Amino acid sequence: MATHTYTSEEFIEAALLWRGIEPGRACDRCGGAGTRAYGSTSTWRGGIGGQMITNGVCDKCWGSGDKDRPWPSHDGMESNAIQLTYCQEKHRELLSERVKLKE
Ligand SMILES: [Zn+2]
Repeated sequence: MATHTYTSEEFIEAALLWRGIEPGRACDRCGGAGTRAYGSTSTWRGGIGGQMITNGVCDKCWGSGDKDRPWPSHDGMESNAIQLTYCQEKHRELLSERVKLKE
């Protein structure tokens, strides 16, 4: 089997292509990795964190590694989940009131 020795640049380009990220479209915050090192344990959530370098999802591309196609933000997903739970509870309340009205 033939072997090929990559330079660092070639390796990164090959890794990006493997992730489906065209050259020049890598996220400028994480370099296309989709994760990055945060200076505290609070990571992308912000707020109070301990004094430790912590790896977490990139807060710019949200893991896609592609500067033009970010994945949905974790903050947005969390907010949607909270709204969904609220709507489901409201729906249940309205259904039970409707059942009571029929009785
Ligand atoms: Zn990124």
